[in-house]
Amino acid sequence: MSAVRTVTDLDPSTGALIAEVPCATAEEVRAAVARARAAAPAWAALPVEERSACLQRVSARLLEAAPELGALASREMGKPLANAVGEVEGYARFMLEELEEVAEAVAPTPFESEAAEVVLHREPLGVVAAITPWNFPVGMPLQILVPALATGNAVVFKPSEHVPLTGRRLAELLQAELPAGVLELVEGDGLTGADLVAADIDMVGFVGSRATGETIMRSAASGLKRLVLELGGKDPMLVFADADLPAAARAAVQHSLRNTGQVCCSVERVLVEASAREAFERLVLEEAASWTFGDPAAEGTRMGPLVSHAQRERVIAQVEDARARGARILLGGEVPDGAGAFYPATVVADAPEDAQVVREETFGPLVCLEGFASEEEGVRRANDTPYGLGANVWTGDSARAARVARALRAGQVGVNRYLGGAKGTPWVGARQSGFGFLGGIEGHRQFTVPKTIATARPAS
Ligand code: NAD
Repeated sequence: MSAVRTVTDLDPSTGALIAEVPCATAEEVRAAVARARAAAPAWAALPVEERSACLQRVSARLLEAAPELGALASREMGKPLANAVGEVEGYARFMLEELEEVAEAVAPTPFESEAAEVVLHREPLGVVAAITPWNFPVGMPLQILVPALATGNAVVFKPSEHVPLTGRRLAELLQAELPAGVLELVEGDGLTGADLVAADIDMVGFVGSRATGETIMRSAASGLKRLVLELGGKDPMLVFADADLPAAARAAVQHSLRNTGQVCCSVERVLVEASAREAFERLVLEEAASWTFGDPAAEGTRMGPLVSHAQRERVIAQVEDARARGARILLGGEVPDGAGAFYPATVVADAPEDAQVVREETFGPLVCLEGFASEEEGVRRANDTPYGLGANVWTGDSARAARVARALRAGQVGVNRYLGGAKGTPWVGARQSGFGFLGGIEGHRQFTVPKTIATARPAS
């Protein structure tokens, strides 16, 4: 008999073992999908208001469980405790807004026709696989689970192997309010995820890396499974000399280092107009110096460790590659002693255009500063990436702001601010940062298929 495969759940602050979690076998994955398939029709048949009512009760449970769930997430992936609790509370409230939008998204739409009474319905797809990352271990799953369930699908949820207990607890809170089988949990690693994609599902809702997104897309071709893929990024920030430099520097540092840089829409490159370089560099260094790392459970900690030693190795490799290619390391860049996967806030300047830190997603606490001489060069270099998640531009010239914002190839652009939309705007990864998108009326509809019913009018 072959040994059971497990995921080893480690506390990244200390290296201590939290749990060994057995991975579901392919057979167990198929059984979970079969249970979801059996539960799907009755769930789909409920009015959207009833499905929403179940999920509103889940929101209340999440708010109540926020301290406990946040502490678990913080321990498993290392984000500061206050941020982890805030994530649970924030998404528990946000899901209530999403539920209102879903009701609008699936409302039947009548169309004009003399020959027939025509109504467009939005029907659920059946069974959705939700496969999610660890960086927002409650928020990212909810972004898929809430619209998938509220639109009437059953879901099989596979959380990240880095946050298995957070994923399990989140599933329990949902299952406490949902009919049996409507939300199934499968635990495990990437191979478990692959088994789930290969199983009898109708759609994959995935948040994770571009490489895994490509693998899932290939596998989903068999059976023409629908896809929403929210992937990585290499978000540029463009700072012109006429910008409010202190505000831009604060945003550059905060959004490079937040969550120890492990955010899909982190600022990954800061391109600064040549004449403002020196002043901007000084402001960034002053700001970044206050971003010290420490125990995520301690009050006031701004940065915890990276999620794992493997993730830290990727960050070290990028910094050392940049150093070897002549970049200046203005702050940090030295690996601290100790068992945890900590890495200091690091400022890298003038890495060449072919350096890893300029080309590949870093997902670590780096502020990467580059220069540009003209608007044309700044825009060209900002767009020189296969990714297209977010971007932001800082300038005092409103005509230029409008021009550059339209020229940047990204799903979301901030002007004299970081990203952010309004209620109803979708979360979009353009180019290779995504396929399909989440949020807003159009995002929720991706968990449905349109169906037109045309009923002949009685002959008069
Ligand atoms: P990952 O791609 O390594 O893993 C994500 C999930 O996919 C995990 O649950 C993993 O077990 C599973 N998986 C791995 N291989 C698989 C396979 N072959 N088939 C099916 N499932 C498989 O990503 P990660 O390290 O967990 O997360 C970090 C990445 O997520 C970063 O690239 C980040 O930018 C991205 N991300 C994107 C968004 C967004 O909204 N665009 C949000 C958060 C994170």
